[in-house]
Amino acid sequence: MSHDHDHNHSELSDIELRVRALETLLTEKGYVDPPALDELIETYETKVGPKNGARVVARAWADPDYREWLLKDATAAIAELGFTGRQGEHMVAVENTHDTHNMVVCTLCSCYPWSVLGLPPVWYKSAPYRSRAVRDPRGVLAEFGVTLPEDTKIRVWDSTAEVRYLVIPRRPVGTDSWPEEDLAELVTRDSMIGTGLARDPNSVGETA
Ligand code: FE
Repeated sequence: MSHDHDHNHSELSDIELRVRALETLLTEKGYVDPPALDELIETYETKVGPKNGARVVARAWADPDYREWLLKDATAAIAELGFTGRQGEHMVAVENTHDTHNMVVCTLCSCYPWSVLGLPPVWYKSAPYRSRAVRDPRGVLAEFGVTLPEDTKIRVWDSTAEVRYLVIPRRPVGTDSWPEEDLAELVTRDSMIGTGLARDPNSVGETA
């Protein structure tokens, strides 16, 4: 899987062409208002992104009561931090432990928790990820550079239009004294999908 490669697209892909054709058609028929569409896309490209989810995870790491609430009613706990809206209406948070590693996929299409992670990465929507995440999660994780202890179970959650999952990665050791905003820096997008782990605290500059 080429999730990490930096391809240089010189032309539009088949999907991009289809999307463009569809947008043109919908606009011509008056179903879509282009400025409104642009604003929606811009919102999810620039304003809503994995930083939202990172704040949720950091809060859960730092505040046991919040963690408990998040695990019990993720939609409400996430809304408390101001992250609501499209594709985030029914959230479920699943927590990684030594015993269980959680990983999220949408086998059917590309359902994804927009309100906390923004738009899904291309590989998340790709057919190989969608089929292999369920069949061979350990192999997929290896391709993402993640190796788990042998006795850690991998649990794969299939997102649907009804329920979107947020993985709470394990809190790195040695971060006990870290303030929430620094903890958030350790939370990557992939760690909240379950295809990554939280950053090594030594890899980021701790603020004084
Ligand atoms: Fe889907």
